[in-house]
Amino acid sequence: MTTIAERLACAQSRIAQAAGKCSRQADDITLLAVSKTKPVSDIMAAYDAGQRCFGENYVQEGQQKILELQQSHPDIQWHFIGPLQSNKSRPVAELFHWMHTIDRSKIAQRLNAQRPLQLPPLQVCIQVNVSGEASKSGVSSEQEMLSLARDISQLPHLTLRGLMTIPSAEEGEPLRRQFQLMQQLLARLQQDYPQADTLSMGMSHDLEQAVACGATLVRIGSAIFGARDYPQKDA
Ligand SMILES: *Cc1c(COP(=O)(O)O)cnc(C)c1O
Repeated sequence: MTTIAERLACAQSRIAQAAGKCSRQADDITLLAVSKTKPVSDIMAAYDAGQRCFGENYVQEGQQKILELQQSHPDIQWHFIGPLQSNKSRPVAELFHWMHTIDRSKIAQRLNAQRPLQLPPLQVCIQVNVSGEASKSGVSSEQEMLSLARDISQLPHLTLRGLMTIPSAEEGEPLRRQFQLMQQLLARLQQDYPQADTLSMGMSHDLEQAVACGATLVRIGSAIFGARDYPQKDA
C-alpha cells in the first residue's frame, strides 16, 4: 500500500523529470490535485504533505468541500475543472479561485456578474475542443477562441489566464499533435493578452507529453488519490 503523500511525491518527481527532459524548470509547472469523488480526509492527507491547489469537477461536491475547509484552511486554492451549466454558476463564482472550462460568453458573463466584489477576480481559462469531437466541450477554432477572449477581457471580475483542454487521443503522435496545437493557440492568445500564461493540460496518464508541449498546469487525480469509486459522469 502506498500513501497519498507517497503518490503525491511520485507525481512531483514525474513532473520534475519531464521538465528536465525539455530544459524547463519544474517550478514553472503547477500540480493541481484533482480530488473529485474523494473525501475531505484525502484532501487533508495531500494538504499535510504540502499540496495547496485542488481541482473539483462537480458544483455541489466542490461547494460542500470548500465550505467545510475554507475557514480552517484558507490557503487552499480551489479550481473548478468540470463542465458548468449556466444555472449552476453561482457557487463557482462565489467560492472558487479558478475556473478552467469557460466555453461560451454567456457563462463568462454570469460568472462576472456573480463574482462577489470583495473577492479578487476569478482566474479563468478558455476550454478548447482540440480534437474536434462532437462530444467534447470547448471552442473549436482560433477565431472562436479570440472572440471569446475578447468578451472575457471586457469583464472586470474575470482575469483571462490561458487555455485548457482534454485531448481525445490516449497516446502517441495523435496525442502530441493535439498538445502542440494547444501550445500554438496559447502563443497566439498571448499576442493579444500577454497575461495569459497558463496552459492547463495533462492528466495522470499523459503528464509527460503535456509538459513536453508546454503545459504549465497539470491536473492529476488517480495517480495521487487512487482509482475513483464511480466514473466521471460528464467530462
Ligand atoms: C478527472 C479529471 C482529471 C484527472 O484525471 P486523472 O486521469 O485521474 O488524473 C483531470 N482533468 C479533468 C478535466 C478531469 O475531469
